[in-house]
Amino acid sequence: MTVGIAFGVALAFLVLPFLIVYSLRGVRQRSLEREELWFRDNSLEAFRVRHPETIKSGRFTCPHCGGEKLFVRTFARDVDLLEHVCNLCGKALYVSRAS
Ligand SMILES: [Zn+2]
Repeated sequence: MTVGIAFGVALAFLVLPFLIVYSLRGVRQRSLEREELWFRDNSLEAFRVRHPETIKSGRFTCPHCGGEKLFVRTFARDVDLLEHVCNLCGKALYVSRAS
């Protein structure tokens, strides 16, 4: 009986780290997929699809205020991303990758 319990405890301690590592890997993978989906949803391509009126005869206009100038800043959450922001109303319009 005690041998059975000791064996069970030992087995749990052997298996537990693997379970933790595998579940953390799954969480990280899912968060990477979420990031990728988020990026696609906020990219220039998605922005163009959402606001086809913003690029008329080669000139860009902000869909919120009609401003024609953008500035670029690094994205707070991730330095590899650039945020393209309207110079007039300050709204972030889309993101792109820095490299
Ligand atoms: Zn604007």
